[in-house]
Amino acid sequence: MDLGIAGRRALVCASSKGLGRGCAEALAAEGVEVVLNARAPEALAETAASIRATYGVSVQEIAADITTEEGRASVLAAAGTVDILVTNAGGPPPGNWRDWQRADFIAALDANALTPIALMTALVPGMCERGWGRVINITSVSVKSPIAILGLSNTARTALTGYVAGVARDVASQGVIINNLLPGLHATDRTISLDGMEADINNETVDAVRKRRMQSIPASRYGTAAEFGATCAFLCSEHTGFMIGQNILLDGGSFVSTL
Ligand code: NAP
Repeated sequence: MDLGIAGRRALVCASSKGLGRGCAEALAAEGVEVVLNARAPEALAETAASIRATYGVSVQEIAADITTEEGRASVLAAAGTVDILVTNAGGPPPGNWRDWQRADFIAALDANALTPIALMTALVPGMCERGWGRVINITSVSVKSPIAILGLSNTARTALTGYVAGVARDVASQGVIINNLLPGLHATDRTISLDGMEADINNETVDAVRKRRMQSIPASRYGTAAEFGATCAFLCSEHTGFMIGQNILLDGGSFVSTL
């Protein structure tokens, strides 16, 4: 299927590794120019070089913390006009609800709700004027199925989901399509490090932890960044003009519901 987006320009935030990189690669494979972002410049430069060499598209990289005002300003200035925005950033730390203070919630909301909102505020008006745009927000399965130790994430991502539900419907008639992509467990650095932490806590091997976690997923495995990216690219395609403000779950069947 031709996704019809060759030659478009995409800003993919937090994309030197993991799910963000998966999205950038899948868009580049469709002939989309990509602007990559992450904090650590070395890994970012390596990813940019690899995508450039593999897909032959224009790739620009901007090292900055997307969750800060200065970081966003430098990314937006360098990115210029973009047709496709993929918002992403690291998730809030796990913990216990008894310990979370106002400052913890402010930090989580800043990173995982107000950052994507600021990026949409900056870029969606231009998309509306040009009559075409796609926005994908990488959120989490925790929006549908709360994870107790990730209460900061549950809170911030649900706030973003509520915002998107309204804005997506407001701009749909102007050719701008906004949807959220909700990852369950995927084999990224983050998941690998969580496997290691759980193994240490329970005095188990990493393999034992991984096997148990995979068995809890109906698909019996973790998702891959490539699968995640392919879904993202489809959501950014010409074919999704009637898909408005949806929350698309990619979790191997872990969230159990009939509808
Ligand atoms: P990952 O493998 O750790 O990759 C994170 C990427 O984001 C890296 O490129 C990292 O580079 C960049 N990044 C992190 N914080 C950033 C910031 N403040 N500014 C700019 N770039 C930043 O993580 P992932 O597994 O892909 O997860 C991506 C998002 O999905 C996270 O919010 C995570 O909580 C959520 N999620 C993931 C899963 C999963 O199973 N993987 C499940 C549910 C939700 P630098 O460190 O160099 O900045």
